[in-house]
Amino acid sequence: MAFGSVPAAKSVVEALEKFKYEGSCDQDHEDESKLIETCVICMEEVIIGSHLIRMPCSHICHEDCISPWIHQNHTCPLCRHKLPSQ
Ligand SMILES: [Zn+2]
Ligand SMILES: [Zn+2]
Repeated sequence: MAFGSVPAAKSVVEALEKFKYEGSCDQDHEDESKLIETCVICMEEVIIGSHLIRMPCSHICHEDCISPWIHQNHTCPLCRHKLPSQ
């Protein structure tokens, strides 16, 4: 464990869950109107095959979008959930 070192923004992104969007797989959540996923940063509709990041608050965004965002913000752009800093 590297304790005491200030993490670079990149390592914050590294710590987040990455996944490839394969279409809506939330079949257990019929109540949620999440038929179309959107990136919380660019607000673009997520297309199948996109590389995404799932934040601790379960919001998702493009892997490409989080990098520039995380350099200036350590919060989710939608709910302002604080992202892990280590
Ligand atoms: Zn995006
Ligand atoms: Zn959020």
